[in-house]
Amino acid sequence: MNLRDDARALADDLVRLRRTLHRTPETGLDLPRTQETVLSRLDGLPLEITTGTGLSSVTAVLRGAAPGPVVLLRGDMDALPVAERTGLDFAADNGRMHACGHDLHTAMLTGAATLLCAHRDRLAGDVVFMFQPGEEGFDGARHMLAEGLLDAAGRRPDAAYAVHVMSAGLPGGVFGTRGGPALAASDVLRVTVRGAGGHGSMPHRAKDPVQAGCAMVTALQAWITRTFDVFDPVILTVGTFHAGTQENVIPDTAVFKATVRSFSAAAQARVKDGTVEVCRGIAAAYGVAVDAEFAELYPVTVNDHAEADFAAHVVREALGEERFAPQPRPLHGSEDFSRVLAEVPGAMLTLGAPPAGADPEHSPNNHSPLAEFDDAVLADGATVYAELAARRLAPTA
Ligand SMILES: [Zn+2]
Repeated sequence: MNLRDDARALADDLVRLRRTLHRTPETGLDLPRTQETVLSRLDGLPLEITTGTGLSSVTAVLRGAAPGPVVLLRGDMDALPVAERTGLDFAADNGRMHACGHDLHTAMLTGAATLLCAHRDRLAGDVVFMFQPGEEGFDGARHMLAEGLLDAAGRRPDAAYAVHVMSAGLPGGVFGTRGGPALAASDVLRVTVRGAGGHGSMPHRAKDPVQAGCAMVTALQAWITRTFDVFDPVILTVGTFHAGTQENVIPDTAVFKATVRSFSAAAQARVKDGTVEVCRGIAAAYGVAVDAEFAELYPVTVNDHAEADFAAHVVREALGEERFAPQPRPLHGSEDFSRVLAEVPGAMLTLGAPPAGADPEHSPNNHSPLAEFDDAVLADGATVYAELAARRLAPTA
């Protein structure tokens, strides 16, 4: 079977599908139109299809001609609450945008389903296609796991793979991955400092939550630099800080929120407890009360070393040596595919898709209202998804 040639024949079709999805982006866990589009694309293929109950997911199982391993392939489908400013003729105009390229993932995964279904008689084992809503902060993967994703084929998957397109940072058509941590854990620290308001001229008769809150912000940063090895880093950025109404009134409360990124489970656990302790300690020193809450969003995405090596090998064999570049470091972003990789060994791959002719070092990043993804990568993206499954399953002959 030559999946790459088959994929080339599908290319125009995949571009049309991707642009349809791009024009009509949906966000969160409920993507009814996107789900309908995916279901209509899969219609007629020899797949066992189930849809989610608490979210508009689609899980499709392809049974090979003989028994063998189970491979899971993930494509996320949701967009972001970003008003698109690319000016593309298929740009969205509903205040939402496929600014992270999940429209390409959805198109590539339907392409892979078409390719693998056509060669079903040559496959020993099963393929689970995971079409996932709610990657962007809604933990859609966790919901799909809770609804039985890993039992879809009747046996748990032996391997799991996902591909993520990048509008910057990688040349067009080049895949990357690495063994070990591939993306950061992403968490949030929410802090409310409770003091006692008063007149700005008489701070000695008040309990100033602004001073205490500012001390917490600087102490958190100092604590991080003194606590974590620079080679197992933690990033803490206070993105909001709100207090007060005017300059001569000491307010009752100050509220701030920070995003926290870490790259190992140990660092994530330590920063979770430590940040709350720092805030409590500063509050005690300043004589104010504090509610500090550390909410875990997504864990570290950890690629299995053997599966990452296998994925690199598959890209090189299927597309050529020059189409793979090892990912030197984990990415600062986070992913709920981490939930799947915590259960099943596998790998997440990146795929460069900057606009044709653009310098990938300077093109707008994923999540920018100006982010553009070259859909010339779709056929090769579908090929790699399909090859990962086909080569990981046992050959029938
Ligand atoms: Zn994304």
